[in-house]
Amino acid sequence: MEKLHLSLSWDCNENCRFCLKKAPAQQVNRPLPLRDCLAMLKRARAAGCRRVSLDGGEPALRSDLPQIIKSALLLGYRKIDVMTNGTRFADPALVRLLASLSPAIRRRLFFCVSLHARKAAVSDALTRRPGGHALTVAGIRKLLAAGFTVSVSHVITKPAYKDLPAFAEFVLKDLKGVSEVVFSHIYPVIHSLPAVRRLYPRFSDARPFLDAAVARLGKGKVAVDLGNAEMLPVCLTGGREAFFVEAFLHNSVAAVTYDRNKLDTGDSRKLESMPLASDQFGERNKVKGPACRRCLLAPVCGGVWKFYAELYGFRELRPYGREFFSRLKVRGAAAAVGVSGDMPPAAAARRAMAQALAARLKGRRVRFVFPRSFDKKAAAGLLSFAAEIGAVKAQGKGQ
Ligand code: SF4
Repeated sequence: MEKLHLSLSWDCNENCRFCLKKAPAQQVNRPLPLRDCLAMLKRARAAGCRRVSLDGGEPALRSDLPQIIKSALLLGYRKIDVMTNGTRFADPALVRLLASLSPAIRRRLFFCVSLHARKAAVSDALTRRPGGHALTVAGIRKLLAAGFTVSVSHVITKPAYKDLPAFAEFVLKDLKGVSEVVFSHIYPVIHSLPAVRRLYPRFSDARPFLDAAVARLGKGKVAVDLGNAEMLPVCLTGGREAFFVEAFLHNSVAAVTYDRNKLDTGDSRKLESMPLASDQFGERNKVKGPACRRCLLAPVCGGVWKFYAELYGFRELRPYGREFFSRLKVRGAAAAVGVSGDMPPAAAARRAMAQALAARLKGRRVRFVFPRSFDKKAAAGLLSFAAEIGAVKAQGKGQ
């Protein structure tokens, strides 16, 4: 297990229309007591987690946040991400408190601040917090001025996508020092579906604006990432398959979560795998179109969200055939891809497919290294996929 997502509280001083957490009235619990936070950090560390993401609600509403951060670092976590809307960091006292942490601690601490629009009116309407945009911008500036590493998280929405290039410009000029911008799509969780349907743009409409923003940030030497790449079918990435698959791979590290106010019903007083990133969540909520039947990437792609297909249909989908892969040159030696023995075989095979696809898009072939007694059907599916895309010479030869 690589990463722990720890929800410190569901309390929030904003109320984003697309938030994947339930509205305050639907919450079942209040903030996680400090001793439970520390126990969870300890348990996940013992299970091998080396990274922790502290989220909420808004984690900075907790006065014991510095103590939680310190404890995580003392437990040996290498990287601590604080997922925040940034508004509380407009308060210089809180930033001063964090700035008093030792340099060794600060080096491993990263702030990921949500900012979903350049224009204050659009942002405040999305977060339903009048004045929230100004506070978030002030918070980012204060964190940067105190020397922290800050990335910006931007959820792509209908009211703001046309402004994405200007948003990139805003980050470069007005938030100088931001290290990375992470673009994400809205998670279609049940309780926010009506809002999601209103706010979710058509991929092909948003893509040119996103491409322009990515290009602008790249020129300005600000890194760009896709936050939840598993949300997007590969064929809608507009020729950015390699970027997409890489983002999918590095963001889908094996992770566990602890969240007392979890999205589904039932007891969540235990560490569990990330429900929204699970194959089961995708299988329940995604659908494939007629074009997918002809697509070589169908074994590794979940298709589009059901609500998305209802809204926009399947006309945007572009299946990948052999001709796409035959255009990709092959160079260099085959890269070894280790197939995980720690996951269910189907999930391990899918992850290895994504790794083979990433290698093939870079012009490499792969050689799979299977764990002992790996499921034969999953192995055959993996090898057949890899052969179809030219990642191994022929079925069975890459083993
Ligand atoms: S399987 Fe369907 S949705 Fe996925 S890349 Fe292929 S055509 Fe697109």
